[in-house]
Amino acid sequence: MIKTYKVKLLPNNKQRTKLFECASVARWAYNFALATQQESYKTCIAYKNFFEGRASFPRFKSKKKSKPSFYQDTISTGQKYKNINKTSKVKKLEKRQKKLQKKLSKKYELNKIQMNGGEYRYRKTNNIKKLEFLVLKMRRRLKNIRHNYIHQITASLVKAKPEYVVMENLNTCGMLKNRKLSKAIQEQLFYEFKRQMEYKCALNDIKFILADTFYPSSKTCSICGALKNKLSLSERKFICDECGYEIDRDLNASINLKNYGKSIA
Ligand SMILES: [Zn+2]
Repeated sequence: MIKTYKVKLLPNNKQRTKLFECASVARWAYNFALATQQESYKTCIAYKNFFEGRASFPRFKSKKKSKPSFYQDTISTGQKYKNINKTSKVKKLEKRQKKLQKKLSKKYELNKIQMNGGEYRYRKTNNIKKLEFLVLKMRRRLKNIRHNYIHQITASLVKAKPEYVVMENLNTCGMLKNRKLSKAIQEQLFYEFKRQMEYKCALNDIKFILADTFYPSSKTCSICGALKNKLSLSERKFICDECGYEIDRDLNASINLKNYGKSIA
């Protein structure tokens, strides 16, 4: 994946020094890559393409911490992320959106015209057009807030430099907990999260693993591996029938996914 940005910079002295530093690192990297390629040419080893060549650089960076992580509100370190849809700002905007939509459908009802065949047609007044625009704008604003929040989470996960990231599929994942939010929006948010996670992992040389749909992450005991027959969504605590281990439900699932990733990675 190649990303390009075009920027014009007006650096001050400090920044200029930093830029020269970066340039010398780049020069070093170029010379290193060139030397490697010349060496493989001499010894008849195949050339490395751009991506293979680039992959040989991370070993020069400081060593990665082995801190696998995954998302389901909870990551395997026990850290929890708050649900963006429960913040007062989003709640307020959602309320306003609902109000606007109600107003819009009322206006539509007022401008209903019955045709000869008994069917209805709606006259689009300027007022309706204006309201529709406002609804659209509100929808976009909410989407931006949610996507921005997902960007913050995925960025912080990648920043922790895990070896790998394990994610569950939508069907098994505990993200569909919010009954107030439509299923379509939740799905769309899930796929946005997955999309961001996948490309950010690729950019940072982190292995991205999608757990098998049938892997029972929340029903398995993360200590002894015993499988529970039933675990309803309302049970927030996982209590093992075999060994009696007690743990937060999401944390248990995320530790299982971490181990799942370890067995694959
Ligand atoms: Zn157990």
